Amino acid sequence: MTDLARRDWLLEVDNLWCGYNGTPVVRGAGFSLGDGDIGCLLGPSGCGKSTILRALAGFLPLQDGQIRLRNQVISDPVRSVPPEHRRIGMVFQDYALFPHLSVADNVAFGLKGLSRRERREKVMELLNLVHLQDLADQFPHELSGGQQQRVALARALAPEPTLLLLDEPFSSLDADLRRRLSLDVRDILKSLGMSALLVTHDQQEAFAMCDEVAVLYDGQIQQWDVPYNLYHEPANRFVAGFVGQGGFIPGTVAGPEGIDSELGRIRGSRADHWPAGTLVDVLIRPDDIVHDPESDLMPRVVEKTFAGTSTLYRFRLSPDTEFEALFRSHLDFQPGERVPVRVEADHLIAFRRAPGPDVPV
Ligand code: ADP
Repeated sequence: MTDLARRDWLLEVDNLWCGYNGTPVVRGAGFSLGDGDIGCLLGPSGCGKSTILRALAGFLPLQDGQIRLRNQVISDPVRSVPPEHRRIGMVFQDYALFPHLSVADNVAFGLKGLSRRERREKVMELLNLVHLQDLADQFPHELSGGQQQRVALARALAPEPTLLLLDEPFSSLDADLRRRLSLDVRDILKSLGMSALLVTHDQQEAFAMCDEVAVLYDGQIQQWDVPYNLYHEPANRFVAGFVGQGGFIPGTVAGPEGIDSELGRIRGSRADHWPAGTLVDVLIRPDDIVHDPESDLMPRVVEKTFAGTSTLYRFRLSPDTEFEALFRSHLDFQPGERVPVRVEADHLIAFRRAPGPDVPV
């Protein structure tokens, strides 16, 4: 696991405030990216991810805070290094290729001060890297979406940027291609030791491609962490609900040994955060529930969603206690049926029950 506390930072963002027409959209965001790492800004649409990218690229002034790249200040409220001098490359969702230029000329576009031969060699090296060496003379409209995005990646890498920003780069591709291309791009960036920051609302993509992920909500970073910790140690209710599947059921702290709920006593270290008797909500993930013919716990199936190798069930034990469970699909139950289950949670995640809206605490 990456130790986020002790790193040489390539990019440091401190207390970032920025927005539009004087109104802040990003409010006090801070994070750091290690040299050679791939980071991600993950969050629902409209939470400010692209706004942060625009500030990093130099297209948006800062209302407060500071951005440093390799220990050099590139933005603060009074200074801003122009975008073309930042050594930051960008890849966009819509590829933004030049339609009248060949693949090779698109890639060559950002290469300055090289002889014709050096240019051609560099372009071919980059096309090899993205596996498009045979398509150098084609035009963008002759390529598939995935190929066009590879050209855009090669073009962004050509000037050898210090940091690469990728703004929802795969969202116009279908799910299968998106998954394959995101893994390919990760391999390419890692082979170059290139540091990158990806913006996405798709957590599968974030987890597959990135070393560290910032979960954003309403212009603020809720948690910046490795994917494992976001899933197993979410910092607040918003992160717990947004990352992975799952829902909350009510519980009462029994003591250091666990939390009592309608699903029985759920054990785990979080219980010793609070005195016995504290009312809490416990996160139950679908993989925390197992089928157990010996169990007395018999919730009723209220919904089932078949997904090939597995089936997602929604169970109800009482009006207050509904939860989901993911079973292998040969365990086939019908809506209305009572099924014996047991909780088998590796990590207990609970939050003190607070009045008011559910996000964030
Ligand atoms: P995300 O990338 O997370 O989807 P954005 O950073 O694009 O979100 O947008 C965050 C908020 O800023 C949204 O409420 C959006 O409407 C607003 N916003 C984005 N761009 C502009 C703009 N050019 N002018 C005014 N408001 C904008």
